[in-house]
Amino acid sequence: MKVHVIRSFDYSKVEYEKVVKLLQGQAGPLQFVKGTAAGHAQVWSQEKKLFDRYVAAAFRYKKDFDFANHTMSLGWNEFFDLADMYRETNRLLADDFIVLLTPVSNSNNWFTSFSKESNTIFIHTEDWGRYLPCDPAYPIAYLAMSQVVEKIYYKDIQEKVHHAHPTPVGCMSDFCQKKSDIIFKLRTADICPDCIDDMVGAGVRGDVINQAIMLFEKTRNEMLFRQRFKQLPSRLHISRGNVIQLLDYQGKVIDLAPLEKTVFFLFLKHPEGILLKNRAQYRQEVEAIYRKLTIYTPGDEVQQAELEKELSESARALTDPLDNSMSEKITRIKSKFTKELGAETAKYYSIQGERGQLRKILLNRTMVSCESSIFTEDIFPSVPLEDAVFQEVQ
Ligand SMILES: [Zn+2]
Repeated sequence: MKVHVIRSFDYSKVEYEKVVKLLQGQAGPLQFVKGTAAGHAQVWSQEKKLFDRYVAAAFRYKKDFDFANHTMSLGWNEFFDLADMYRETNRLLADDFIVLLTPVSNSNNWFTSFSKESNTIFIHTEDWGRYLPCDPAYPIAYLAMSQVVEKIYYKDIQEKVHHAHPTPVGCMSDFCQKKSDIIFKLRTADICPDCIDDMVGAGVRGDVINQAIMLFEKTRNEMLFRQRFKQLPSRLHISRGNVIQLLDYQGKVIDLAPLEKTVFFLFLKHPEGILLKNRAQYRQEVEAIYRKLTIYTPGDEVQQAELEKELSESARALTDPLDNSMSEKITRIKSKFTKELGAETAKYYSIQGERGQLRKILLNRTMVSCESSIFTEDIFPSVPLEDAVFQEVQ
């Protein structure tokens, strides 16, 4: 079963792609696909017409209408029509789903709804940041998945409202009137046993339900993860290919560029800390680490010589106290960990210390394991310790 995820012109492409990626990350019978350029072009041109009409009407109603402080609102049917236009342009099957992600408000201010006549869903993409501590891509992906399942199950929105749990029980079928209500639903991210029985009884495939539950679980973890303001650190594992993974945070991968990784590994190797003004004495270590991270194999002697030059120049720049290279990498490492973990938790992993003082990574080194040969000596076990010592950052 295909689910075509499409976007309004004003919904950012980057955000859109994040949502699609989350949905595609969960294997199962529901196959989430991105919208086509031709289909999008047509939807967007229609949106433009609707907008022009909206503007004209607003001005007729009030001559000094202030657009800076108003956003367009459309009726549900207008969203469904937009999606159906896409359906026709792309000659989709009637069974195919369309999920339209849109920042445009709708007449009843619902955050999502589906059509009675066709497998068409819209989701409002705005304002999530105010209510939820996580990336809006998660609640939006949650809704995309849950609406497909609910449409299969309930067919029409009246049925859904009729069956919904009026008081939230932490089930997909909780009726949430406000965006803030949905926090509870996302935190539990479950489908209650009664609803599962009803769904299976109504012919919803078990593997569809499983696919939804797996995605919900991801949303849930992300929510809990962001909400624990001061969570305990995770064990850090360096894979055979030198990928940095945080095992206790769902195996989250921290993606550092080779030179950033070189600096990170250098500080990991030196729990006692490093004075930046003495960095020249680490030049050989830096070069040895960077060399191992360079997977490029030169084809001939000329390339070999160029590579040698680059390795040695980069190691020099990183360890030259008059060069800014090391400080830049330290800043970038910090911002990457912060982006992935939030500022509080990033403190365990980024390189801390005041100007002129020792700089160090605070993570307890019993929590580090390393399968690669990046460090010349075996300073970390190759298998993660189960009883690693957790610590709080002061
Ligand atoms: Zn339920």
